[in-house]
Amino acid sequence: MTNKLIIYDSTLRDGAQALGISFTVEDKLKIVNKLDNLGVHYIEAGNPGSNPKDLEFFEKVLKLKLASSKIIAFGATRRANISVEEDANIQSLLKAGTEAIAVFGKSWDFQVTDIIKTTLEENLRMIYDTIKYFKNHGKIVVYDAEHFFDGYNANPEYAMETLKVANRAGADTICLCDTKGAGLPSHIARITGLVRDEVDCAIGIHCHNDNGMAVAGSIAAVEAGAVQIQGTINGFGERCGNANLCTIIPNLQLMMNYECIPAANMEKLTPTARYVSEVANIIHDERAPFVGNCAFAHKAGMHADAVNKNTSAYEMIHPEVVGNQRNILMSEVAGRSAVMSIINMVDSTLTKDSPETKKIIERLKELEYEGYQYEGAESSFELVIRKMLGKYKTFFELKEFKVIVNEPTVNSVNSSAMIKILVDGQTEITAAEGDGPVNALDKALRKALERFYPRIAEMKLTDYKVRVLDSNFATASKVRVLIETTDGQDAWTTVGVSTDIIEASWRALVDSVEHKLMKEN
Ligand SMILES: [Zn+2]
Repeated sequence: MTNKLIIYDSTLRDGAQALGISFTVEDKLKIVNKLDNLGVHYIEAGNPGSNPKDLEFFEKVLKLKLASSKIIAFGATRRANISVEEDANIQSLLKAGTEAIAVFGKSWDFQVTDIIKTTLEENLRMIYDTIKYFKNHGKIVVYDAEHFFDGYNANPEYAMETLKVANRAGADTICLCDTKGAGLPSHIARITGLVRDEVDCAIGIHCHNDNGMAVAGSIAAVEAGAVQIQGTINGFGERCGNANLCTIIPNLQLMMNYECIPAANMEKLTPTARYVSEVANIIHDERAPFVGNCAFAHKAGMHADAVNKNTSAYEMIHPEVVGNQRNILMSEVAGRSAVMSIINMVDSTLTKDSPETKKIIERLKELEYEGYQYEGAESSFELVIRKMLGKYKTFFELKEFKVIVNEPTVNSVNSSAMIKILVDGQTEITAAEGDGPVNALDKALRKALERFYPRIAEMKLTDYKVRVLDSNFATASKVRVLIETTDGQDAWTTVGVSTDIIEASWRALVDSVEHKLMKEN
């Protein structure tokens, strides 16, 4: 048995069904390039006949020179009681001009008689005719057996018969779909094994995550003989999502010795996952296995100590393997080793006994007393260390800023900010409006800097949190502001504390901008 598997990505088709996701043609083209770069075998891209946007996309995508992926058009079997030639959808699938086509059809008797309202025999002919037609036109055909597991539970003979018909018509792959997402891994494995004995083409698996087991179900199917895995980046998809390829690929490839994507591309997994979240405009799930910021994050103290001594103590793989990184989190009781690993990021020659280290730890305690907390905001702490060690570059100097809040809000604008900064002796004054004073200030600052540092334009605030600190903690009531930023490649969090919310936000904002500039310069 070969250990090579076929990865079939449906982010642009099934993934785009997710609440809150709407890809433009340009978004889709960008994602296709990323997926090709990652090395997936198929990119399912929708139905060219469904709307003008999809048609435009297909015209453009087929002009791209893809290194590893094939674009696959997706559509239903022919309608009942007409020929494939008369069916407009079948014709538009053919006209899309892709090398491969995915055809979905019914395997559940109740869906045939009650939903599409035709006879069980006609449904078999619809499956056969459609697949045969595309095979006669030289296409690679993946047959998606919709609701297969539910269909099998209801009427195993009929469900199996639909697959045998697809097999006879020449389908290259028959994909078993757990469309409702309720399949249990053991059940999926057992049925997949039975199908393997009945058909002689490749078997695929397509799971939804309504029971939280889409990944487990997909892997169980592979163990039972499936060789094509359909899923989406970050598990995007309708309801609870589709099987998450960012979890499935590393499990199969790193833990189970299958080959899903070229080994050298594994480190592109986290950047790809982040990129797709970014384009989808969905906050990246930082708790996601392998590709989230928390996947290799350790709280200061015993765990961080152990990880510093030997990474296998609390990590199943090295984060770099999947393009992620280790994060040692700070806390008020910061373990020295956690602090040390950040100090060493700035200066690898310092040890825990260096006088500089002692000063940094003293400063950290003072800042924590003032209300700073660097857990999850290591970028701000790194800047503190850089300033203390003289490894800090000044990118701009603030001369002044003014923020005005206007009520009532008009078109989500209720604030304006004016800012004056100095960069290399040149003064820049800009103003911007925004939804709230911090938004206006952020826009004005970045507008002012863009002339000098164009890559600032890549930055985007993804989260903004304010916490009012316990008033007996310091003399006056303070707020701590956490700002999360991404540039599409990385995400970082910065922190600011003050008795004034604008001031605290400004500090976090400046750290965020400086982190980006430090990274690029
Ligand atoms: Zn689906």
